Amino acid sequence: MTPAAVPTVPFFDYRKLFTQEEAELVAIFRDVGRRGAFILQNDLARFEANLGHFLGADRVLGVANGTDGLLIALRAAGIGAGDEVIFSSHTMVATAAAIHFAGAAPVAVDCGPDHLIDPEAVTAAITPRTRAILPTQLNGRVADMDALARIAQRRGLTIVEDAAQALGASFKGRKAGTFGSAAAISFFPAKVLGCLGDGGAVVARNNVVFERICQLRDHGKSADGEIVSWGLNSRLDNLQAAILDYRLGSLERSIDRRRAIARRYRSALGEVGEIVLPPGPDQDPDHFDVYQNYEIEAERRDDLREFLRARGVGTLVAWGGKAVHQWERLGLTASLPATERLMARSLMLPMNPGLSDGDVDYVAAGVRGFYR
Ligand SMILES: *Cc1c(COP(=O)(O)O)cnc(C)c1O
Repeated sequence: MTPAAVPTVPFFDYRKLFTQEEAELVAIFRDVGRRGAFILQNDLARFEANLGHFLGADRVLGVANGTDGLLIALRAAGIGAGDEVIFSSHTMVATAAAIHFAGAAPVAVDCGPDHLIDPEAVTAAITPRTRAILPTQLNGRVADMDALARIAQRRGLTIVEDAAQALGASFKGRKAGTFGSAAAISFFPAKVLGCLGDGGAVVARNNVVFERICQLRDHGKSADGEIVSWGLNSRLDNLQAAILDYRLGSLERSIDRRRAIARRYRSALGEVGEIVLPPGPDQDPDHFDVYQNYEIEAERRDDLREFLRARGVGTLVAWGGKAVHQWERLGLTASLPATERLMARSLMLPMNPGLSDGDVDYVAAGVRGFYR
């Protein structure tokens, strides 16, 4: 007798990113290769224009990755030595690293019940040296940008957005990446729009910031090829841009699928008292969420994770289980009770457009089974 196949739902299947459209991707590689179009070519320019159109933004530039994008966005927004930048500790370490490498001091603050930067905590952290607020639009949801804009305006601060996880998300009809002086987006393979390697983009509010970004990503070169400032080499590969431009064509469909999965989790798990789910996709007309991740809060989180693992379900405890300020060697001393409580309870359930309804039901049945 052959044993019945045990269903498994991996947390994320990186191979699928290639195999589900292998023929199209190979054709793109062949086309770009035969043209010898590797650095700063038309495919990149076309992708930047199309991404700008998608975002409702005129000034978008591809960069090597989201982390570089944040550093470049901060520098282009005028942030540097002696400045303090306020960020939510409930984020990837890259957010704070970008502030550090911009020459400024990262100031970690707590998150609110929505898992995003808490505007009251921002206000409390402002000092005479504060220059900018760096909200992370985490898990594909935009923070309360009305509240942050009010604080920024009243206190004369700049906003730079970490929109690495929020391409396509919006708040009151405005897309993530278009709220601040500058913003960064990531195309890491597992992101909402992923390439086959590292990639990122920066969005600029005005021409001054845009010019600085152009220079920072390409050796300090001005449009006519003169070196006019110190710059980096942080260009988005033309090949990755060609792949991203192709995938941009199905981004809305893929976001719809993520939202349908969130709806399905919610209807299957809404009654489980021991967990807290992210807001549903139809819950608040001010927010359009893209569900980069599906982060739940769970009682007995580690036991739940092990229970699911034994049933073939992959989950993730993000960032090694710690918020940024909890990595002691980075030297960010802070006591952030909401963030610390969340980090002990946070669990990412599988969330990507490759999941079938059956996969989602199987994961949900596992969660219900654990608490029954
Ligand atoms: C992915 C991510 C980044 C960094 O993007 P990379 O392209 O991997 O450098 C920064 N911030 C957040 C919140 C992210 O999720």
